[in-house]
Amino acid sequence: MTAPIVRFAPSPTGRIHIGNARTALFNYLFARRGGGRFVLRFDDTDLERSKEEYAASIEVDLAWLGVQPDLTVRQSQRFALYDAAAATLKAAGLLYPCYETADELDRRRKRQIGRGLPPVYDRAALSLTAEDRDRLEAEGRKPHWRFRLEHKTIAWTDLVRGPSHIDCASLSDPVLVREDGTYLYTLPSVVDDIDLRITHVIRGEDHVTNTAVQIQLFEALAGAGHAPVFGHHNLLTTVSGEGLSKRSGALSIGGLRDAGIEPLAVASLAVLTGSSDSVHPVASLDELQQTFDLSHVSRNAAKFDPAELDALSARTLHLLPFDLVRDRLVAHDVAGHKAEAFWLAVRGNLATFLDVVPWWRVVEGEIEPVIEDAELASAAATLLPEEPWDQTTWGAWTKAVREQSGRKGRGLFHPLRLALTGLESGPELAQLLPLIGRTRASDRLHGRVS
Ligand code: GLU
Repeated sequence: MTAPIVRFAPSPTGRIHIGNARTALFNYLFARRGGGRFVLRFDDTDLERSKEEYAASIEVDLAWLGVQPDLTVRQSQRFALYDAAAATLKAAGLLYPCYETADELDRRRKRQIGRGLPPVYDRAALSLTAEDRDRLEAEGRKPHWRFRLEHKTIAWTDLVRGPSHIDCASLSDPVLVREDGTYLYTLPSVVDDIDLRITHVIRGEDHVTNTAVQIQLFEALAGAGHAPVFGHHNLLTTVSGEGLSKRSGALSIGGLRDAGIEPLAVASLAVLTGSSDSVHPVASLDELQQTFDLSHVSRNAAKFDPAELDALSARTLHLLPFDLVRDRLVAHDVAGHKAEAFWLAVRGNLATFLDVVPWWRVVEGEIEPVIEDAELASAAATLLPEEPWDQTTWGAWTKAVREQSGRKGRGLFHPLRLALTGLESGPELAQLLPLIGRTRASDRLHGRVS
């Protein structure tokens, strides 16, 4: 098989959400798995609703998820290609002008439904003569253009849904060009898929009916057998079955990022929900790619509980190796020779990445110690061994404190933890103590801010 070329094609009319991330990641992982390429295509032919700021935010969100496009294109810069394709279709008699107003079409549909007929466009415009058209245009009407479908069954083997087919006789000839000359999504998408040599179109199942129409367009513009392979995945919904929209702010990628959710938690949930693989924390997209397979995606709804994200995010942090977080730590001033040991000591206690900040203060900054048992604390201070310290220091030191003070269990450990960290609970002190160091430990045991 030749290396796949796929595309993720959002309209920049809002921020992307976790459901869009599912489509983006399916494409990205599919391309990476096959050693192929991933194209980011902005479907911005609707110049009024598309906004550059949304395109920019989508790029930021994808980068945050670890998705790096090999190529980015904007449909708004490719109108010449669509015009040429429309001209080809017109010349072949496959794109025909229609003059009905929205009201007329609506009334016609209602009549059809009233008679128990499917509300399919009756192709009345095909029987207009040149004089009819001139007259309508003289009245000030402008045509919209429909693609003349062949009334046949279109079949394809869907990467997710398996053998699929749609009888095009049950579809209205789709409008490709509006009265004002602007393009609906259908034609530009096919033109770009041909031009960019897209081999696989992986998208949500809300596009299944478009596929039959688009396969006919591929045949008309590129010749029979030139359509890409299609895969339509189930859509993410919340547990109550509610779909996501660009307006569901809380589940936007930007919203999740602001809430401190880890990108790999979003990726795992987005990719594995509604598949035969269980959602689990991963340390990299590579790891996700190993198990990822479109044929594991279920045909049932992909329901997820947004509340799961917090726990999944924490579990993701707990397994991230230092190398993968080094730069993020530096951004919070966690750097230097202690940084790696610090990360390994605290990661298991983090709910969000930002929790490193107070813990770094414990090992490298100033905290207010809490002295619960002054007698024990000062005895413990005198017993602090000389440095160098390592992870065995805690065990040896607390043994000595226990023997001298007679305290044990909670009565021994709780006051020491409060004095050394100022907090009730946290990472293992065997790991923290060498990072805190003798000077700070001694100061804190004496109740001094240090
Ligand atoms: N812009 C379309 C959408 O966001 C793209 C669909 C496709 O992948 O063909 O739904």
